[in-house]
Amino acid sequence: MAFPYMEAVVGFMILMYVFETYLDFRQHAAYKLPTLPKTLEGVISDDKFRKSRAYSLDKSRFHFVHEFVSILMDSGILLFGILPWVWKKSGEFVGSVGLDRENEIWHTLAFLAGVMIWSQITDLPFSLYSTFVIEAKHGFNKQTIWLFFRDIIKGIIISIILGPPIVTAIITIVQSGGPYLAIYLWAFMFVLSLVMMTLYPVLIAPLFNKFTPLPDGQLRTKIENLASSLKFPLKKLFVVDGSTRSSHSNAYMYGFFNNKRIVLYDTLIQQCKDEEEVVAVIAHELGHWKLNHTMYSFVAVQILTFLQFGGYTLVRNSNELFQSFGFDTQPVLIGLILFQHTVIPVQHLVNFGLNLVSRSFEFQADAFAKKLGYADALRSGLVKLQEENLSAMNTDPWYSAYHFSHPPLVERLAALDAAGKKDK
Ligand SMILES: [Zn+2]
Repeated sequence: MAFPYMEAVVGFMILMYVFETYLDFRQHAAYKLPTLPKTLEGVISDDKFRKSRAYSLDKSRFHFVHEFVSILMDSGILLFGILPWVWKKSGEFVGSVGLDRENEIWHTLAFLAGVMIWSQITDLPFSLYSTFVIEAKHGFNKQTIWLFFRDIIKGIIISIILGPPIVTAIITIVQSGGPYLAIYLWAFMFVLSLVMMTLYPVLIAPLFNKFTPLPDGQLRTKIENLASSLKFPLKKLFVVDGSTRSSHSNAYMYGFFNNKRIVLYDTLIQQCKDEEEVVAVIAHELGHWKLNHTMYSFVAVQILTFLQFGGYTLVRNSNELFQSFGFDTQPVLIGLILFQHTVIPVQHLVNFGLNLVSRSFEFQADAFAKKLGYADALRSGLVKLQEENLSAMNTDPWYSAYHFSHPPLVERLAALDAAGKKDK
């Protein structure tokens, strides 16, 4: 008897939905708590706490609806054979516009176009509601409806330009086959990711945001001094106009080898009235670099990609797998999609593991900033970011263990303090 792949996948998806919804309920209860956690009393103002609570609860309610609709759609698509139906229709479409419908590349591109239109349409009501109702209500949204749609259209244009060559390359590689297929696929993705890392900041990011060099002044000097004292190859130091879309704030580091850039959100600079706080946040970011966290993450992603392609090459010719999902033929892209679905359980475990590692990296980067003497500035910087972003103050331990890539503020402050006592 053939293994019921499709039923197993849908069953597992629903199981995960139930589990994650249970965690959401636990977290929702934490949002409802009327008081701050002990350690944040007197640190976070009552006004900010009240606002963060209202914001978190609104987001949480919306999340319940969104997740429910998603699980209905995702399992419906698999159970009712929508994927093979769209595959068949896209083949007919290719034929009707006079192209060779036996050509797998055209067929796949038509299929992907269909998928993209579908996901754009189904996502739209949710992203509109999230941006123009929830974010707006809590004072975060700064973008106009025009900017919102312009971003979507730019995104679509970019996928129309980049998608076809990538899809063509992958299909061609798989069709050439051979015993080292997984290595070829991985090598292709590796090169592609290096190319994208190079092109993204120069060609793509500027389509959406304006990047201006941080003007000369104390802040710039302090950051440059910090970078050079750590031998960080800082090539560019930018401010990005995050404020045109949202008043959420952030900072990040980007680039590889000896070509790094640091990008500060203009909102971060506005919200941290004290420059030292911004420098402390950068010290934390540079900690990630100095402690090789960026390198470890990159290597981890490479290993996972290789394992995924390895798994895919094992099942890519499995009649049982394709037939279980309603396919008579075995197109490359469909094989990849189906394989992706069958490893959902593994993916959840991997994500959980990655979050664990990421949280320990965050503690290490905080400790690094502290060692450089930024403990107090980092402390007040983190508190300010938490307040300005109205991040959740009360967190359920199960929920945060499962979902959080960053430790909750309470834990980060506690760790900063604990390390402080040991030093004195
Ligand atoms: Zn970090």
